[in-house]
Amino acid sequence: TVRTRFAPSPTGLLHIGNARAALFNYLYAKHHNGQFLLRIEDTDKERSTQKAVDVIFDGLSWMGLTPDNEPVYQSTRIERHQEVALHLLKTGKAYKCFCTQEELADMRAKAQAEGKPPRYNGYWRDRDPSEAPTDAPYTVRIKAPREGKTVINDLVQGEVTVANIELDDMIILRADGTPTYQHAVVCDDHDMEITHVIRGDDHLTNSFRQLMIYRAMEWDIPQFAHLPLIHGPDGAKLSKRHGASSVVEFREEGYLPEALCNYLLRLGWGHGDDEILSREEQINLFDLDGVGRSPSRMDYAKLSHVNGYWLRQADDSRLTQDVIERLSKHEGYVLDQEHQERISFLMSGLKERAKNLIELAENAAFLCTQVPLNFTDKAQKLLNEENCGMLSKLASQLATLTPFTKEGINHTLHQFAEAEGLKLGKVAQPLRAAVTGSTMSPGIDDTLLALGKEEVLARLGAVTN
Ligand code: GLU
Repeated sequence: TVRTRFAPSPTGLLHIGNARAALFNYLYAKHHNGQFLLRIEDTDKERSTQKAVDVIFDGLSWMGLTPDNEPVYQSTRIERHQEVALHLLKTGKAYKCFCTQEELADMRAKAQAEGKPPRYNGYWRDRDPSEAPTDAPYTVRIKAPREGKTVINDLVQGEVTVANIELDDMIILRADGTPTYQHAVVCDDHDMEITHVIRGDDHLTNSFRQLMIYRAMEWDIPQFAHLPLIHGPDGAKLSKRHGASSVVEFREEGYLPEALCNYLLRLGWGHGDDEILSREEQINLFDLDGVGRSPSRMDYAKLSHVNGYWLRQADDSRLTQDVIERLSKHEGYVLDQEHQERISFLMSGLKERAKNLIELAENAAFLCTQVPLNFTDKAQKLLNEENCGMLSKLASQLATLTPFTKEGINHTLHQFAEAEGLKLGKVAQPLRAAVTGSTMSPGIDDTLLALGKEEVLARLGAVTN
């Protein structure tokens, strides 16, 4: 069965490129009825705080990418990494290197002077360890092949070849006995029985190095798929200056997880013209052959469009909850039961008019403020003397409307407009301005209903007195 993995290093944020790798690993596994595993590569003890690990857990759970395993922590597996290195020493596939830092620096300087890449020259490769000073510290290096070439049939990049002369005898165990990244990844992927390594194409050169360890251990080699990176709209590496670039940022900016996943999937993965795909469709359709080889460019406008779609699909109560949370982070909003119900009542109309959760909260905010309202410039303009006079008359009619129903409100507004010789909009817009503080809201009837009669009259009173 297919077993994929997401193997992030906890850096404190979940970059969008990594999030996409996680999504592709998840979808590939699910598409093939396989398993999606999580491994936390926490060997850098300084950076790998619990907080940094939680960022990954939270991000994955928010995106709905639940792993099928208890997360594996790489740091707990050091003994196993050492055991494998020892085995390679015993079988003569690796050797102890006693070079000192100075010797290595000299080697690099010399190579550089000769215009060669700074590679280890294999000094201890065929030397007897007994030549080393007693108790000298050593690293363990793998014996790289010295001729021929190494080929990877990458599921995205196609056939990629490296001349073995390019590979040097890399270190697998450091002098302090800790494994290097390349070594740990291979041991872990093998032990976790990973069949497909799907990751960013910045790891392609690592794969050639990692292959040396698979070969030396005579382990099955997984399939590789190296995904192109995500660039900014201008083609440069995606960074802060382009906009949001990590999962937490997208979340804070009001994107829904289903929108972000949908967008990230469609970014650099071709599938006809269907822009919108549910998780179920994603699992059914996803395969690696649709992944393009060139870097994708982040298109925030398109993401926003996809977000608007998923916002309209989202459950009203979930959106209401989110809006309440967002509003509660600011001063000045009343969020008791009654006001929460106003939001919930108007949600189906509100969500039609917002592109993200921030906008949604902004558009709902008028429901939870108290008189006097703040008015937008446009709203303020509508509240001129003439219109306020008109609203004052209208208020007295609405005051008599019992019960305060949708039909009743519409009937009153129509009759009033007719009697005044005004088009409905000439009544509704000033009314909207007076009760919401802006010129945009869901239908005026629903808006008034959400506020309730008493509040509507209070708000009209505040502008007409
Ligand atoms: N831990 C590596 C990273 O976060 C990924 C390793 C891998 O996918 O093989 O870049």
